[in-house]
Amino acid sequence: MRFLVAAACAAALPAHAQDLTAQSLATEAAAVRDKALSDPTAWRVVESLTSEVGARPVGTPAMARARDWGVATLAALGFENVHVESFTTRAWIRGEESAEVVGPWPQRLQILGLGNSAPTPKGGLTAEIVLFRTYQAMLDQPPGALKGKIAVVTQATPRTQDASSYGLIGVQRTQGPLEAAKRGAVGYLVRSISTADTRLPHTGSTAAPGIPAAALATPDAEQLERLAARGKPVTVRLDMSSSVIAAAPAWNVVGEIRGRERPEEVIVVGGHLDSWDPGTGAIDDGAGIAITTAAARIAGQAQRPRRTLRVVMWGSEEQGGSGDEYAKAHADEIARIVVAGESDLGAGRIWRAALPAGSLDHPAMSVFAATVSPLGVLMLREPPKYGGSDIAATIKAGAPFVQFSQDADRYFDLHHSADDTLDKIKPDELAQNVAVWASFLYLTANSDIDFRAAKP
Ligand code: ZN
Ligand code: ZN
Repeated sequence: MRFLVAAACAAALPAHAQDLTAQSLATEAAAVRDKALSDPTAWRVVESLTSEVGARPVGTPAMARARDWGVATLAALGFENVHVESFTTRAWIRGEESAEVVGPWPQRLQILGLGNSAPTPKGGLTAEIVLFRTYQAMLDQPPGALKGKIAVVTQATPRTQDASSYGLIGVQRTQGPLEAAKRGAVGYLVRSISTADTRLPHTGSTAAPGIPAAALATPDAEQLERLAARGKPVTVRLDMSSSVIAAAPAWNVVGEIRGRERPEEVIVVGGHLDSWDPGTGAIDDGAGIAITTAAARIAGQAQRPRRTLRVVMWGSEEQGGSGDEYAKAHADEIARIVVAGESDLGAGRIWRAALPAGSLDHPAMSVFAATVSPLGVLMLREPPKYGGSDIAATIKAGAPFVQFSQDADRYFDLHHSADDTLDKIKPDELAQNVAVWASFLYLTANSDIDFRAAKP
């Protein structure tokens, strides 16, 4: 019903030429938005990817199947110039893993090794733990203070809508093992960067090469806190194996809807095709693949756009490489990239949009703001600070970018865990994402907006 109100407002605009253009843009954008809200493409894409490929860590045969799936999916949806851009990257492959308290109160622990973690010696590693309830408390230890010990950090990740806690707490996963090793530790356990209370630990990358390092499930981290508080030395055995491929094959999969007037001007959007191994990579980042693929298709469906719409399925986000490789391969094209965007925070509703400075003054973007307002999207006056790790290098090279912030409230219950599965995606929230991206892509691809020229 709210959509009818928006259409009625557009129809009431004064009828001189410029307003007529704005009026027809608004009507067309509203039609694209409304089509996206009921279009099944995004759901079908993520259902297909998670069912037919499942988990797809870089360096595994599943990633090659994901590449073939990407090519077939884009071709079946009518994309043009569908192709694969190959590169190699370092890949860490998980082996067998287990952990247990051996004394004084023996019990199993639920752990998941961190990407890039070193393996333990064959037969495992047994050592006394030193537990810190904050990351800072471990950093405060002098060199040598953790000699021969397993350092344990149990600081919790608060639930936030804007994912800011991940940025603040994530360092205890990404840098913790290195910092623990500097202080003499032989192993590292970290409370999962998670807001869930399940016994499913959450993996993720850490800096390499380090010491054996794993994430504890939330209840297991709290259990270790209770054991450590009893005052007796607590001993843990950690047994982890893994392997590394120094130059694993990887691929960015690309498809386009070529522009009819200025095909050399390219709008680049996408998500990442690779995932971590415990779940099926539905919210991270099958959702982003589905949202951007469906949005580009819907935006370019009724009529070929004036500019080119390009979807990229980046092939190695979790372990790094795909964003840098993309920027390198497209270095001579940066000036012709109209705008870049990535969807990589699950399938929660978009609640805030940030555009390059000053661009809301352009008629196409004021129409965009009006088009997505009924979807509950607030327009931020400030430009975006972060666009996504796969477009970071492209942004650094000079491409303008947008950030459409998804509601991250539930994201860190699931991400990088065995619970990252299709059932966690709500179809109406997925469709809202598609509607926002499709409206933006339609308006950008059919206007002359220059995001570089727009200034406050
Ligand atoms: Zn991701
Ligand atoms: Zn991830």
